[in-house]
Amino acid sequence: MIVVMKSGAQPSAIQEVSDRLLELGYQVNPIFGVEKTIIGAVGGSEHGKVDFIDQLRSYADVEDVILITKPYKFVAIESRPNRTVIDLGNGVHIGGNDVVTMAGPCTVESEEQLMETAEAVAKAGATILRGGAYKPSTSPYSYQGMGVPGLELLKDAGNRFGLKVITEVMDLRKVELVAQYADILQIGTRNMQNYDLLKEVGQSKIPVMLKRGMTAKIEEWLLAAEYIAAGGNDQIMLCERGVRTFETATRNTLDLSAIPLLKTLTHLPIIVDPSQGTGRRDLVGPMSKAAVACGADGLIIEVHPHPDHAIKDGAQSMTIPAFQQLMPELSQISVAVGRSMATLRELTVT
Ligand code: PEP
Ligand code: MN
Repeated sequence: MIVVMKSGAQPSAIQEVSDRLLELGYQVNPIFGVEKTIIGAVGGSEHGKVDFIDQLRSYADVEDVILITKPYKFVAIESRPNRTVIDLGNGVHIGGNDVVTMAGPCTVESEEQLMETAEAVAKAGATILRGGAYKPSTSPYSYQGMGVPGLELLKDAGNRFGLKVITEVMDLRKVELVAQYADILQIGTRNMQNYDLLKEVGQSKIPVMLKRGMTAKIEEWLLAAEYIAAGGNDQIMLCERGVRTFETATRNTLDLSAIPLLKTLTHLPIIVDPSQGTGRRDLVGPMSKAAVACGADGLIIEVHPHPDHAIKDGAQSMTIPAFQQLMPELSQISVAVGRSMATLRELTVT
């Protein structure tokens, strides 16, 4: 790191900072300029480093502390230049050459609703079924999800139509339970910084999709992923689902620039959620295409047989025919960017 001292900092202040750095095991190299002195510091112990840097910043004569290395390690591109490929079994890989599609209702409402959707999205080429059994709701009076019966329906639908299952876990006490039914655990935007939950899913071996906090910076998001990786679970994918801005015409502002940017910073696969990202079903197709074009490894799309009657997020849920029309278009875009995508599967329903 480089510690920049304020103009006119006295030699005693420079010495005090140098001594503190030495005490913490750094090698110290001050450079005395005409106006300012900077202190180069290398080495030092990792333990408590972040807190120590904050402490240094609070010294009266310190202007700034500039870090040379990134604050996250396991998820940094440098730690795995070959990139993470998550193998879900049955030929479903996330982060490889295939662009994967996760599709299904925002929330599981009934057996009929889920089975109809699952069959349709599977036939159209989706390989992963989405659906919430535990719903994070801004209002305590909104629908909170079916719970275990919803998880059971997801698992049944997955088995029946050859789909893997992704569903949200909100409570660290339910990680083990949800993991019995899901192939991927979803951590929602509201929980991106729920560090106890992140530590808990870090202990499990099951793949995790970490959604971007609605006001999270890229670095905060990667540090949240680092919590999971530091716990021992390296099966992590990130999901851009839009951030809050001044704009109210869309539900969120989908930050597609995050995709190519993240590719330079991390080896983790990146999924895009254009449904929460826009809040409008007419925008989901165009944003899905743009996401694939700029390098997304997968999409998670809300689809409902009767969006106008959906308990949650009907306005952003695609109809089945619209989803069926979109998939071949996405496939063409995948090919144009050197990827591939499964579409139109023959299903043998059991
Ligand atoms: C969802 O996927 O339905 C959802 C609630 O997502 P988010 O956490 O991104 O709002
Ligand atoms: Mn939703």
